[in-house]
Amino acid sequence: MSGNSGNGGSSSTRKTPNNTSGSLLAYTTRDQSTYPPSYNSYSQQQQLFAQLKATHPHELQPTSHQQSSNGQSRAKFALGDFTICRTLGTGSFGRVHLVQSKRNTKYYAMKVLKKSEVVRLKQVEHTNNEKHILEQVNHPFLVNLWGTFQDSANLYMVMDYVAGGELFSVLRKSQRFPDYVAKFYAAEVLLAFEYLHSKDIIYRDLKPENLLLDRDGHIKITDFGFAKYVPDITWTLCGTPDYLAPEIIQSKGYGKAVDWYSLGVLIFEMLAGYPPFYDEDHMRLYEKILAGKIKYPSSFESNAKDLLKRLLTADLSKRYGNLKGGSEDIKRHKWFQGTDWDKLLRKEGRAPYIPQISGDGDASNFDVYPEEREPYGAPCSDPYREKFMSF
Ligand code: AMP
Repeated sequence: MSGNSGNGGSSSTRKTPNNTSGSLLAYTTRDQSTYPPSYNSYSQQQQLFAQLKATHPHELQPTSHQQSSNGQSRAKFALGDFTICRTLGTGSFGRVHLVQSKRNTKYYAMKVLKKSEVVRLKQVEHTNNEKHILEQVNHPFLVNLWGTFQDSANLYMVMDYVAGGELFSVLRKSQRFPDYVAKFYAAEVLLAFEYLHSKDIIYRDLKPENLLLDRDGHIKITDFGFAKYVPDITWTLCGTPDYLAPEIIQSKGYGKAVDWYSLGVLIFEMLAGYPPFYDEDHMRLYEKILAGKIKYPSSFESNAKDLLKRLLTADLSKRYGNLKGGSEDIKRHKWFQGTDWDKLLRKEGRAPYIPQISGDGDASNFDVYPEEREPYGAPCSDPYREKFMSF
């Protein structure tokens, strides 16, 4: 067990059953059933430049309120406040449901984590981090948390329902994105990372599966399960294999620069349709990441290639985002030329793809998952309550 600890606090790691290397790594998996992807033409996907709709935050009436760490009043709900609808996604210790509030009839996404699994997989600290960080952030490109609660068996997190589905699905159906589309999503991620880093938060799990599209086609980053407050460096081995920066694999202390590296992986994957390094065997994958030899498809624009070389470098003294100019170096790079960053932040720019959403509770942009699960709210013993006191 690498009981790693930095100034940001100690972190648990886990050894997953399919991690043949024996190294300790808390990683999330990707949906291999759609990888390598089957391809449709991008034009089938495009519905360009629909009129932007003003967003109106929905007021969700809570059962009670609690004081969060940043002094704001947060909603305290109960399971009975919601009608649970279909599953939107699954994780290793729980799932995310579409739910409807019985109080205001609006739809939300509710992440349900089974306490015993969180404990078994040594993710107690990560789960508490996720809750605290989501409470502290407020940004147009980050998912909004309305409140949390727990019962004997589960932890519950109530978030805005982001109805456009995962960018992953759009990318796989499209094969790859044209330059301007990749640029749009990359720019929104960059602004979100800039905001998180200004609060000394590292995200650590960038991938198209964690980028949701709102009804206007803007991104919302979800899954803060590996996000952490890190004012300096940390050591925890976590993330998704394809997106791991070399310094994470090498078990070096690492910092915010890992997010900029992962932005490079995302840009590459959006432009190519596959990540820069891939191997079914994780050990061989890590060797490839460390060797750092990338084959750039000839279709890549020269500015894109130049930026990617500066993001996907193992040399931290050269990696863009990690230099004196910080994220400005990336924003001012030629590939982003013409991006109006202020307009983008105000969501005034038009998104390249507008999801088809037929009504408020429409979940057709999400994959269908088997619905077998233990019933929520059944009485049982609660040996782990003290580990999740803030929920
Ligand atoms: P997570 O366990 O947080 O990675 O979530 C698993 C999956 O649930 C994501 O990949 C999404 O497909 C879906 N999901 C998570 N949060 C939301 C949300 N706020 N709105 C809609 N779908 C979500």
